[in-house]
Amino acid sequence: MSYSKFVIASGNAGKLKEFKQLFADTDINICPQSDFDVPEAIEDGLSFIENAIIKARNAAKHSGLPSIADDSGLEVDALNGAPGIYSARFSEDHNGVRVSDDTNNAKLLGLLDGVSEEQRSARFVCALAFMRHENDPSPVVCAARWEGVILPAPRGESGFGYDPIFYVPEYACASAELDRDIKNRVSHRGQALKILLDQLNELGLLL
Ligand code: IMP
Repeated sequence: MSYSKFVIASGNAGKLKEFKQLFADTDINICPQSDFDVPEAIEDGLSFIENAIIKARNAAKHSGLPSIADDSGLEVDALNGAPGIYSARFSEDHNGVRVSDDTNNAKLLGLLDGVSEEQRSARFVCALAFMRHENDPSPVVCAARWEGVILPAPRGESGFGYDPIFYVPEYACASAELDRDIKNRVSHRGQALKILLDQLNELGLLL
């Protein structure tokens, strides 16, 4: 069985834009899960891959379409891998302060205050899961990593999330200063999607 239409299990505008660009050269039709009123999944997995499967299953269940979900985040070595799977809500304090990319970045920079450049290594991680349907017993999964260093202060205007404080040594700039097409090609999500597309092709799942 092969497929030409998938639902993307994400409501994050930044990620949806990246997915659209990544699929632009293919005949695959991708729809956001908002087209199907998919309720938020309860992300109670303890790893990126578990949460990607939970989100993919939820989107397939409520859309009736095969689904692709990603779960991604930032791992900082000096913080034992935090914020990790909690990257999106890192600065949540339950005191009514709204979490934003800025509050997350400020919290991370605060925790790394005084930590030397050599100790500020980090990576973005992206896990992807493809499910043929909600009861698919063998989701197609993969993961990729993008290595960098946490900057002392934000730089750049593009991207989202932790992009302004993530320095990319191979391009000598922050992720938020990178050309969008370059980011899509080299990032954790770009690399993971390429791996996933190769796997789906190998399995004969793409029309
Ligand atoms: P998710 O939506 O549960 O996968 O949360 C991922 C979170 O990790 C996002 O809200 C961002 O804070 C962060 N993140 C993931 N990928 C990127 C990226 O490419 N740039 C910047 N931040 C990212």
